Amino acid sequence: MKLPEKVKIGYRNYKIADLPQHEADARGLRGTHYAHAGIIRIERNMDTEQQANTFIHEILHACWLQCDINEELEEHAVTVLANQLTQVFQDNPEVTKYLRSALAKQR
Ligand SMILES: [Zn+2]
Repeated sequence: MKLPEKVKIGYRNYKIADLPQHEADARGLRGTHYAHAGIIRIERNMDTEQQANTFIHEILHACWLQCDINEELEEHAVTVLANQLTQVFQDNPEVTKYLRSALAKQR
C-alpha cells in the first residue's frame, strides 16, 4: 500500500517524501523528520511492516518536538512507542477500524 502524500500532526501539515536508499544506508536510518520544513522522508524499499513502523516512528518524533519534551530520551521513547503501536495496530484491525470510524471528521 502506498504511503499518503501528507499527514497533519498537531498544527503542522507534513509532506511525505522519498528518502533514497543510498542516503538511508549511508546515514543508517530508514526515515527522517524535518520539523522546520514540514517534511517526513521515508525510505521506500522496505516491506510494508517496516515502512508502517518507520512512518509511525517519524510521526512520534514530530509529536515529541511539538510537545517540547526533553530530547535526552526522545530516540528511545519514540522507538519503543512506535514498535508497540505498530504491533497493536497490526494485531488488532478492529481497533484501527474503530478509531478510524470514531475519529472521522464530518465532511
Ligand atoms: Zn528516530
